[in-house]
Amino acid sequence: MVSVTRIPVLAGNWKMFKTLPETVAYLQEFKILVQYAEGCEIVIAAPFPALAAAADTVRGSRIRIAAQSLHWETEGAFTGEVSAAMLASAGCSDVIIGHSERRQLFGETDETVNRRLLAALAAGLRPIVCVGETLDQREANETKDVLLSQIDGAFASLTSDSASPIIVAYEPVWAIGTGRTATPEIAEEAHRILRGRIREILGAVTADNVRILYGGSVKPANIQSLMSKPEIDGALVGGASLDPVSMAAIIHYQS
Ligand code: PEP
Repeated sequence: MVSVTRIPVLAGNWKMFKTLPETVAYLQEFKILVQYAEGCEIVIAAPFPALAAAADTVRGSRIRIAAQSLHWETEGAFTGEVSAAMLASAGCSDVIIGHSERRQLFGETDETVNRRLLAALAAGLRPIVCVGETLDQREANETKDVLLSQIDGAFASLTSDSASPIIVAYEPVWAIGTGRTATPEIAEEAHRILRGRIREILGAVTADNVRILYGGSVKPANIQSLMSKPEIDGALVGGASLDPVSMAAIIHYQS
């Protein structure tokens, strides 16, 4: 058996927080705090108006800048939307797709997740695709079915070549912003289900290499136990990423 090393990814999702000056001030402090962090990738997903300034502020550092969504069309009469090329030209390298808040509040479906995913890949952006079950679905023993159908929907018509940059984030909806973290064992089980399906759809090489992040009330106090599970390849962090010191502590979880 070939052993695979997956470089951990620690990503912050700021959601609808931080103005442009707040973004620049955060990143000026943060890039110093994480300048010696090695052995992981660091991503910050800032709001649209601050993306270009964010990318300028971190230039020359290892911090990658992500958007929190995109539209699948390249351009057109889609008021309020932004395209993959616009994000890339603003200095983004990554984009979050299908966050549960987009699914629950803005009508995102597996089909639109797939369209956004294909558009991101076509423009050279690295997608961070979010999946996860609600509390009702978990209590009804539907977690596995929900995760499988979200992966099937998101990955429709992908080939293993085109899929290689994709990152998946397992974010149980009941753990997001609630302070209720999934246990490392619950997260690991979900990650196994997801990787198994990716293996069936896209083959062993892609499945072994895809990074699957856990998201849901990750904090400096729980990151180490989550990262102790070989199936957990990093974290997507909401609330705790809003403070540069706390996000830096998450990134330095090994020290
Ligand atoms: C998120 O927004 O993706 C998230 C996981 O939020 P929190 O860490 O606040 O639960």
